[in-house]
This record gives sequence, C-alpha cells and structure tokens, in this order.
Amino acid sequence: MSTVSIQRQVNALHADRYAARADSFHPSPVRAVFEVSMLPGMISLAGGNPDLSLLPLGEVAEFAREIVAERGLEALQYGSGAGTEGLTNTICEVMAAEGTTAVPENILVTSGSQMALELIATMFCDPGDVVLAEGPTYVGAIGTFEGLQAEISHIALDSDGLIPEQLEQRIRELRAAGKTIKLLYTIPNFNNPAGVSLSLERRQQIVDICRAEGIAIVEDNPYGLLSFSGQYLPSLHGLDPENVFYLGSFSKIFSPGVRVGWLVAPVEVRNRLQLAAEATTICPSVLSQLLVERYITEFDWKAQIRASSELYRERAAASMAALGRYMPVGTTWTVPEGGFFTWVTLPAGHTTDDLLQPAIDNGVVFVPGSAFYADGSGANNFRIAFSFESAERLTEGIRRLGKALTSR
Ligand code: PMP
Repeated sequence: MSTVSIQRQVNALHADRYAARADSFHPSPVRAVFEVSMLPGMISLAGGNPDLSLLPLGEVAEFAREIVAERGLEALQYGSGAGTEGLTNTICEVMAAEGTTAVPENILVTSGSQMALELIATMFCDPGDVVLAEGPTYVGAIGTFEGLQAEISHIALDSDGLIPEQLEQRIRELRAAGKTIKLLYTIPNFNNPAGVSLSLERRQQIVDICRAEGIAIVEDNPYGLLSFSGQYLPSLHGLDPENVFYLGSFSKIFSPGVRVGWLVAPVEVRNRLQLAAEATTICPSVLSQLLVERYITEFDWKAQIRASSELYRERAAASMAALGRYMPVGTTWTVPEGGFFTWVTLPAGHTTDDLLQPAIDNGVVFVPGSAFYADGSGANNFRIAFSFESAERLTEGIRRLGKALTSR
C-alpha cells in the first residue's frame, strides 16, 4: 500500500475524534520557511534566531561537563515544578539589569516563554474571549491564543508603540458589541515584528487604562536587554505588578535551544499557573536550568550582551541602508533601537504573500506581513530579521529581494 493511501486511512480513522479546538491550530508561517532557510546558498531574513557564534562555546561546554560531573544526580533527575532555586534567584538578577524588581515567590520557570504564554492563555481565555494585541504582533502569540479559540483584536501602533487612544476606543467598541476582553498582550521593547518600543509616557497610560478597564496585561519581553544604546525603559510590570504578567526568556540573550524562560505574576496567579505547567511538562529541564544559572553566575554575560547588541546594531544599520538602496521609491521601515527586527511597508499596490516564491527563487527568504495579523492585514508589509546573517549577507539578501520585486 502506498504511503499516501496509508495516510488517507489514518486520517479517516481519526477524523471524528478530534476535539473542537483541534482545527484552531495552524502551521506557523515562520516555522514553514525554516526548512527553506536551511537550503545551501539561501539568505534568511526570516527567523528571529540569535547569532550564537558570539557565545563562549568552550566555557559553556565546560559548565555542562562540570554540572554532570558534580551534580549529575540532581541535574538528570526530575525537579521542582517551580524551577530550581538557584535559577529563580538568577532571574531576579537578570531582571534587575533592566531595572525591574522581582522576587522568587512571583517567578515560575517555564520551558521557554512560549510555554508561559500558553499557560496564561489556558488559564484566562475561554473560547470567544477577546485578547487585545498590537497590530502587527508576534506570530507565536497569534497561534497560542487562536489555538485556545480566543479572538485577537489588533490595536494600531506607531513609532512610539501601541496607541493608547486606539486602545481605549477599541475597548469601548468591543464592549458595545457584547465581547469579553480578557487580556492585553504586548511586546513593549523592540517589538516582534515591528521593531518599535513603547514610549515612557505611553507605558503609564496603557497600564492605567488596563487597570481602570479590568483587563490584565501580558508583557512579553524577550528582547529588552538587547538595547543598542544600553538604555532601558521601565517595565509595565514595574508600573503595576498586580495587573501585569511579565514574560522573560533566555532564548535571545543566551540560547533558545536550552528552552528556558519564565513568568512573573502575583503569587496567587503564579501558583495556579504552576499547576497548569506541571500538567504539561511536570517540571522544566533541570539540566538546562543549571546550565543557564552557571552561565549567568560565572560568565560576564553583560559584556556578552553588549557585544551582541553592538553586532545587531551594525546589522540593523546595514539592513536599513540596503532597504534605501534596493526597495522601490516610497517604501518605509521602522528604525529599531534594539532587538532583531525592522518592519517594512511597501508602497500601496505591492503585496508580499505572492513575493515569497519569487524571493525564494532568487535565493532569499523572508516572512510576509500577513503572518503577523490574525485578520489578514499586512498585505504590503514584511519583516526583516537582522539578527542572524552577516551585514554583507543581509545587504545581498535585500538586493535579491529588490530583484524579486521588480522581476515579478
Ligand atoms: N515572544 C516573542 C515576542 C518572541 O519573539 C519569541 C521567540 N521568537 C517568544 C516569545 C518565544 O520565546 P522562547 O524561545 O522563550 O519560547
């Protein structure tokens, strides 16, 4: 029997068994181009991968060896659902570097911040509940919220981030339509994919609006430490710790492969989220947690971040110069002050979904703008991730993209 007919049979066998929510999970447009970006000669402007070539791999290898040799019985065993004590203390130190105060009682270690997002969505969103989010927003958040059958309503942003007046107006409109709004999901620092940050004034305004309207905030901050200037704005969590759930990650400042992230929430909420976490993973990887803790406590991770941010700053500058050179007249883009991304708007009439194949044929891959909206917007946008490729390859990739645009 052919593989195709076996697949058909298996599909038929399970077709009526799936839960109603099973149809809510869709392939991620970023993961979909992952394989393509690995093809030889392909330049990837697509994935938000950190450049790990700056990591001190020799030292990290030695840390891993020491952990297994000295604490192997702990490192390779099940651990606490809360995370290791050492790592929760380390997380407080990492947050303090950005000016945010947290204490271990409020922290839950997760297998990446994606898991933290999923836990919050599971615990707070019923089908049909509305989650407010920037437009554009993080693809993975769209997937998580939609997977739980929540509806995403996008709030416009500009170069200063989410627009408070639009937030207020949308809340009024949704309430008038009888909707239940549960959360505001926001990426205030170096937004993925928009590249912009929320201004200081707007931070206070947004925190005040959400508190007054009874909407909890999910502050997703994987990029905050990767500021080009080394300056940090206060976290929303710092402005209202009771109403803001904070998500952090070691993925962009150390390694996404270790899958270590965390959330900070009021104790009562954090404890309930731990129950949901234990139902999913029992505990986060102890080996990974010990490795992250060792890296932060024994290596000069702040110098490492300064070096990485400088590299990313140069790559952002090279990307923007190439956009000016190779994109059609009238194209605009955001000017990031940190993080991994810039968001490009082509002149009206251009579309980017149908640019992907010609781009791949020309040896460059990117993520079209529509991936970052739940409502099909973003037709003439695309995201550039400048974190992974060298400045020379980014320039060449953007040249190839310009060629694909004109040769369609
Ligand atoms: N939030 C945002 C905004 C991200 O960009 C990412 C990773 N691309 C995540 C969450 C997930 O990160 P993690 O690897 O910690 O799960």
